[in-house]
Amino acid sequence: MKIILWDIDGTLVRSNGGRVAVNAFLRALCLSCQLEHELPYPYDSAGKTDPQIALEILAAASIAESRASQALEAFAEHYLMELKRQQQALITDLRVLPGVSEILEVLTQRGIVQSLLTGNLEPVARFKLACAGIEQYLDFDLGAYGSDNADRSRLVPIVRQRLQRRLGPDASQADIVVVGDTPRDIACARAGGARAVAVATGNFTKHELEAHRPDVLLDDLTDTHAVVEALLQYSSSLESRQAPIV
Ligand SMILES: [Mg+2]
Repeated sequence: MKIILWDIDGTLVRSNGGRVAVNAFLRALCLSCQLEHELPYPYDSAGKTDPQIALEILAAASIAESRASQALEAFAEHYLMELKRQQQALITDLRVLPGVSEILEVLTQRGIVQSLLTGNLEPVARFKLACAGIEQYLDFDLGAYGSDNADRSRLVPIVRQRLQRRLGPDASQADIVVVGDTPRDIACARAGGARAVAVATGNFTKHELEAHRPDVLLDDLTDTHAVVEALLQYSSSLESRQAPIV
């Protein structure tokens, strides 16, 4: 059984430049800590989880760690509310990357289970993909999110637990493929004993991603047939190297 876990930002969708989600994120953070001044969004956020980014921004703004941790729950509520308030702008700003819809459709037709492995909070992931119009392909309940753990490298084992709960012993046969656009996606696949497929449609070039030695490296997802075959063939060709379930 193969499970494809997609990253969201830079892999399935990108902002058209409107920064709607980033601005909602920062407004929510200000509201959750009752801050009046503007907060900067960190340059090095690619592949980090939302709680991790939030805590880093608050630490840089000299907010005490205990206060910042306490604010995370309110932040999550404000963030989703801000996005919902900006729904039309978000729909305009979110661009489904070339080839994505076709690949999600073909894999669905082949009966491949697809879910998410993303730093987004779960409700935000659901909302973003509904706005992008591709939520129907994804089995959200199996995925792992920034709201499950602030450390992305701990997310694959969470998917394994959810699989175990759903499938019982059959879950140990699962062949998990993580698809993402950053070195942190590759690292989290490695940490969880999953295959790492990197795609250079985010902020990292193919050359930069290559240094992190993904199992498969793609320019983009435009060649539907080749990408689907690569994902599926690759998975089955390395069956014997399947990492043990812990
Ligand atoms: Mg990404």
